[in-house]
Amino acid sequence: MLFSHIPRVRLLDDPTPLEPARRYGQQIGCPGLWLKRDDVMPLGLGGNKVRSLEFWLGEALEQQADVVLVAGLPPSNLCRLTAAACCKLGLRCIVVHNASGPEERPGGNSRLNDLMGVERLYCGPVDEWKRAEFVEETARELRAQGHKPYIVGDPVTGALGYVAAAGELLQQAEQKQLDLGHVFISASAGPTETGLLFGLHLFSPDVVLHLVSVEYEERVFWPICQRIYQGLAEKLGVSPGIGPRENARFDGGFLGEGYAKPTPECVQAMERLARAEGVFVDTTYNAKVLAGLEDAGRRGIAEGGTLFWHTGGVPSLFG
Ligand SMILES: *Cc1c(COP(=O)(O)O)cnc(C)c1O
Repeated sequence: MLFSHIPRVRLLDDPTPLEPARRYGQQIGCPGLWLKRDDVMPLGLGGNKVRSLEFWLGEALEQQADVVLVAGLPPSNLCRLTAAACCKLGLRCIVVHNASGPEERPGGNSRLNDLMGVERLYCGPVDEWKRAEFVEETARELRAQGHKPYIVGDPVTGALGYVAAAGELLQQAEQKQLDLGHVFISASAGPTETGLLFGLHLFSPDVVLHLVSVEYEERVFWPICQRIYQGLAEKLGVSPGIGPRENARFDGGFLGEGYAKPTPECVQAMERLARAEGVFVDTTYNAKVLAGLEDAGRRGIAEGGTLFWHTGGVPSLFG
């Protein structure tokens, strides 16, 4: 088995739903549209990070860590879900935010963190490199006190969750007689989309993966993706035989002014999906992917079995 030599802790017992979105699909020129609902999970309101956390926290438990460190901005889905998984496993969790202090108007994820009583540190409004140094320093201090800290975030380990998810999807698609041609997902820091790309290339190389950027330009994205892809091949001891850019389309046209800045077309797309299907998306990640999907629908690109991979993040709508 692909993952038998890799530590993993189960946080998700069952596959997430795979369901048709007929009304929305009709409206946007993708009549064969399906949704993969990673926003629907039992733990902590769900999201893509749960799949990565199975491998990150699997590693933490294997190393007998007694405290887990995770970093992000205050609205981070990763921080909320790491805290939730640590609650479930009985592990101490410390969240580091690169902000000066608690948000003046706490968003949904901050409120959920409060509810879980998670320990939080603020390292000031610095960039993610400075934040990573602060996390390392905190880990050193914890070690000096006799603790065993584990830092969440290694991108290759995190990507394993979506290699596994590709297998889950293909099995479900077969059961539901969905003949998959195109998959749409957000392109951001890399682990999720690269894991999925690796898994699809390994198990079903004809499927085209559309990576709709919500963070980086193409020239920044591919080297990150390439490194993770290579790291997966080394870690798993298998290689898909084709490179990451084959049957993958990067789409940088829906980012707007940048990460977490909503665009008019993404807001329209999120409203259309809500009104047609009763399904909600966030504006940082998934609404921009929907805007890209709608454009592909208009251009007649996404014909046949098309899938939108909902990665979660809905709590950010509140607050
Ligand atoms: C983190 C996140 C992503 C992006 O995942 P990466 O692996 O960083 O690319 C997408 N959607 C949601 C809801 C997220 O929280």
